[in-house]
Amino acid sequence: MNGYKCYHVTVHLTRQEQDLRATARAFGDEHITSVAMEYVKSGEWPWDVFAKAADADLIGRSFDQDIGGNQASLVEECLVAQEFCRADSSVGIAINGATVGCFAVSSFGSDEQRRRWLPSVADGEATSSIALTEPDTGSALSKVTTTAKIDGDEYVINGEKDWIANGVSSDWVATLCRTNPDSKGPHHGLSLIVVPTDADGYEAQARNRLGLDAAEHATVHYDDVRVPRENLLGEEEGQGFSQILEWLEHGRIEIAAAHLGMAEGAFDRALAYAKKREQGGQPIGDYQGMRWKLADMHKQLEVANAQVYRAARLVDQAEAGEDVVESTTDQASIAKLYATEIACDVAEEAVQVFGGNGFARENEVEHFYRDVKAGTIYEGTSEVQRNTIGKVLFDEL
Ligand SMILES: Cc1cc2nc3c(=O)[nH]c(=O)nc-3n(C[C@H](O)[C@H](O)[C@H](O)COP(=O)(O)OP(=O)(O)OC[C@H]3O[C@@H](n4cnc5c(N)ncnc54)[C@H](O)[C@@H]3O)c2cc1C
Repeated sequence: MNGYKCYHVTVHLTRQEQDLRATARAFGDEHITSVAMEYVKSGEWPWDVFAKAADADLIGRSFDQDIGGNQASLVEECLVAQEFCRADSSVGIAINGATVGCFAVSSFGSDEQRRRWLPSVADGEATSSIALTEPDTGSALSKVTTTAKIDGDEYVINGEKDWIANGVSSDWVATLCRTNPDSKGPHHGLSLIVVPTDADGYEAQARNRLGLDAAEHATVHYDDVRVPRENLLGEEEGQGFSQILEWLEHGRIEIAAAHLGMAEGAFDRALAYAKKREQGGQPIGDYQGMRWKLADMHKQLEVANAQVYRAARLVDQAEAGEDVVESTTDQASIAKLYATEIACDVAEEAVQVFGGNGFARENEVEHFYRDVKAGTIYEGTSEVQRNTIGKVLFDEL
């Protein structure tokens, strides 16, 4: 057995983390579940719920205190994401996604940039975006073609991005651009630049999608968009790809937590239904066929919970300078791969428990089932996660 590292880490939540989870769950019950179906039906972005979440101090918690945050750990961020999505898959992901561009600014931005772009998001008044994917460049991110050329004190940006969360309604978009087309290495020559969405030449159109009805995803065109050079994130050009890798380690674990929450939400609803719905003179939950199904779903959720918080804790420990021997990249990919795939299984089985009612638009599990699928696609598809895990196993990462 050469080289295989498995340390059987058990994750216990501290009292403070348990309290935060309880607060986020209570918020979800009171302010998300109660109104979610209205947003799912109308397709409107849930600004009201977002503002209430900010008032409850549940948005932008990872930001520094001077810009409205609590320097929350990744474990804490995951607990909130999970509870929001457990309350409702669609509204939950919309609210979680409001801060999607913020990690780049808070981690790589200057003090001035952090103060300019982050407080309005923490206050629930604005959302953010991150634009990496292009119509012809998704999984192979290093091939990004959107260009940013220097002209005097400005960057001039041209290109197209696709599937950008909040691309129409956010205030700004951290955009991955090619700043040096002559750069030799595949991962060089890319930079993250913040683009305000009211800049001339920035055009976004919302896409029609399978699910996540209360969220928004857009195709974005940059046509000679001019932004000041000081909108570059990081001290110099060419750091974009490594910045994205650092973001993805956090982002993948948070997405895993969010989709685990969706799966738990679907499960909660299926279990309650199985106890109440009667067929043949008894609750359907008294049939062994239904019980085994629910037992398998519960088993998947328990294992996913262990892996998501193991990965999140490891990243927190590594960032605190502790000696972490495992690969956090590997653990993040395992968490994202496992949690998002079991979320699809669990949501499908939840629809099955509901029978015909599960297929009805007015029933919550119907949209949970449609919503979970995105998890196996964004922030690296399941195949990309398997590639990453494989590279770690073969010492290529
Ligand atoms: C709801 C939603 C929200 C999103 N939000 C954002 C956002 O906010 N910002 C953003 O930048 N992007 C966002 N995306 C885009 C998302 O990250 C990409 O869709 C994803 O990375 C896959 O890229 P692609 O769609 O171009 O698929 P492709 O890369 O074309 O992949 C197509 C298929 O080929 C497989 N494949 C590709 N390469 C390999 C390989 N090397 N090995 C094995 N299989 C491979 C893929 O796994 C997939 O099954 C979002 C997408 C969705 C659906």
